[in-house]
Amino acid sequence: MSEKTIFQKIIDREIPAPLVYEDELVAAFHDIHPQAPTHILIVPKKVIPRVGEATPEDQATLGALLLAAGHIAEKLGFKDRSHGFRLVINHGKDAGETVPHLHVHLLAGRALDWPPG
Ligand code: AMP
Repeated sequence: MSEKTIFQKIIDREIPAPLVYEDELVAAFHDIHPQAPTHILIVPKKVIPRVGEATPEDQATLGALLLAAGHIAEKLGFKDRSHGFRLVINHGKDAGETVPHLHVHLLAGRALDWPPG
C-alpha cells in the first residue's frame, strides 16, 4: 500500500491539527502556511489524488466538499457578499499542487486579486 498523505495522517489523527469541520465524507483544518487571514483546507476522507481523477462514484464526496465550504464560510461570517470567500483546487504542477490528496482551499479575510498569480 502506498504511504499515507499528510492529509490522511491528519484525518486519521496521527498528526495533530484541530479540525474546524468534520462530517462522514470530509474534514477541514487550517493551512499550515496561510495565504489569507483565513485559509482552510477541506479534504475528502477518501483519498482522491486530484480533482481530475475523481470518478462518478465520487459524486457525493465532491458535493460534500462544496457544501462543507459553505457551512464553514457561514460559521466564520464570510458568507455575506460584502465579505465573501474564494475556493481554489489545484490540479497538477502548473496549478501549484503540492499534496496529492484532493483538497479545496477556502481563502477569506482580505480582498483577493483576480486573475490569480
Ligand atoms: P496545494 O499546493 O494545492 O497542493 O496545497 C497544499 C497545501 O497544504 C499548502 O497550502 C500547504 O501549506 C498545506 N499543508 C502542507 N502540509 C500541511 C500540514 N501539515 N497542515 C496543514 N496544511 C498543510
